Parts: sequence; structure tokens; C-alpha cells
Amino acid sequence: MKKNKIKIFAALILCAALVVLIHGYIHMLSLCGDIKEGYVYSDAMRNIDMTEKEIEKIFYTDKNQDDMPYIAGLNEGILRSVIYRKIYLSLFEKENGDGESGRNVPYMFKKAFPEEVFEEALNVYIKIYGDVRCFPVPKDVGAGIETPYDDSWNSARDYGGDRKHEGTDIMAANNTRGYFPVVSMTDGVVEKKGWLELGGYRLGIRSPGGAYFYYAHLAEYAEGIEEGAQIKAGTVIGTMGDTGYGKKEGTTGKFAVHLHMGIYCDYNDEEVSFNPYYVLKSVDRFRKEFVP
Ligand SMILES: [Zn+2]
Repeated sequence: MKKNKIKIFAALILCAALVVLIHGYIHMLSLCGDIKEGYVYSDAMRNIDMTEKEIEKIFYTDKNQDDMPYIAGLNEGILRSVIYRKIYLSLFEKENGDGESGRNVPYMFKKAFPEEVFEEALNVYIKIYGDVRCFPVPKDVGAGIETPYDDSWNSARDYGGDRKHEGTDIMAANNTRGYFPVVSMTDGVVEKKGWLELGGYRLGIRSPGGAYFYYAHLAEYAEGIEEGAQIKAGTVIGTMGDTGYGKKEGTTGKFAVHLHMGIYCDYNDEEVSFNPYYVLKSVDRFRKEFVP
């Protein structure tokens, strides 16, 4: 009699465990069902953060004759783990608000995880990171004026209606227009040049991989920078300024001198913005130098 009780008890435990497992798997499937084609263009995936270590390792580096490090290529392995973590956490954040509880079931997640979505995200981020070779503002080794920047992705902006900041602002600590040169972060073709109400004098450069790098509020353009021109990473394309926030071409002085950096990828014939902050952080130590 006692033996039977133990058997029944064991069977009940087994059943309960099975129910928990099946429930977990179905839950996983439904979470992963939320991510489908185009998920990479969702708010969550347009803003991918990296740890200091990942920033340090995302590029393979080499040194030139002067012993200065330069970017030799992209470390796709780091990019893979960053994107995997981001998809994984963004799903559970969506579900639980904290991204914690999901950490117990990585195996189920792996089973249910749609590989194509991951590959699509990877391809977009390879487009973004793969051609980047330079920080867009060189280091002032003469007067030592700083050019700080923060992660202001999605912070509120009031000019031009209710909108969010879709870029990173690199500030000139001396607030002097025309002082800092701006260089291209990538090789590429100058696709757009000219005045925009919001961006002032701006440049749009399409890198070979297909991402679009947007430089706004320039004080002036460098010579030879015309639409259709092929340029190399590190080429001076203009100077940092404060143009924009006016319908009238040449409007200045509506805000502090800075470079607004935007990064876009095409999706369904639309340009979708991605947070440039961690891209900038990852190339910061490869800044060129200039003497004013
Ligand atoms: Zn900005």
C-alpha cells in the first residue's frame, strides 16, 4: 500500500514537471513568434548597446608605420553575441519588464529561436559596422579642446514638432563654428548634399556595404565634396558648425556648435535610423589627430 502511494506521488511529480516544460516551450514559441521578418527595424533592435570589453574587441586592429593602431576588419563573432543577447533580452523585457526570469530557460529559447531573424539583424549590423574606419571628429592635439558626446538616443527634441533624437551629438567644447574638421567615418559615395531645415548643411554618405551616414549642422563643406564623389574614410568633408533649425538657408546660432551623426539602413524603401552611439564609442580610440 505504501509503495503504491509513492508510485502515485512520483507519477504526479513527473506529470507536473512535464506540464511546466511544455508550458515553458509553448511560452517560448509565442515569444519568438513576436519576432519576425523586419524585427531588426523595431525600436528594440535599433538601439543595441555593448560592454566596454565588446567595444574593445569589435574590430580587428593592426598598426601602421608610426605605431598607430587602425581598424583592419570587423570581428563578427562579437557582433553575433551582442545581437543574440539583445534579441534574447528584448523579448523577455517585453514580457516581464525586467529581462530576468527568461534567463532560466536558454535551452528552450535556443530551440524556438528563429534563426532567420537573427541572420537578418546580423546582416544589418554588418552593414553598419563593417565599413566604419574613423571617428568623425579628429582629436585636437594643439589646443586640446574636447569633443564630448552622450547617448541621447530617443531623447525629446522640440524644434520641428514633437520628435525624438535619432542620432548622437558630438559637441565642440569651445562652441566655435568652423573650428573642428569633420571626416568621413567610411569609404563611400556622397549621396546627399545641401540645406535641410532640421539638419542645416548636411552630407549623406553611402558606404560600400549600403548603410547611410548622415552628417548634419556643418559650418561649411570641404572642397571637392559633391554629390556623386567617391571618398575614402578619413577624408575631411567639412567643418563642425551650428547650421539648421530654420527654413531660411544659412540659419545659424539656434543651438550649440556640434556634429549630429546619424546612421541609417534602408528597409522597404524607407531609411530607418539606428543608434550611432556605440558605433562611435567603438571607433573613438582610432581618432585621427589635427592641429588647429
Ligand atoms: Zn542631434
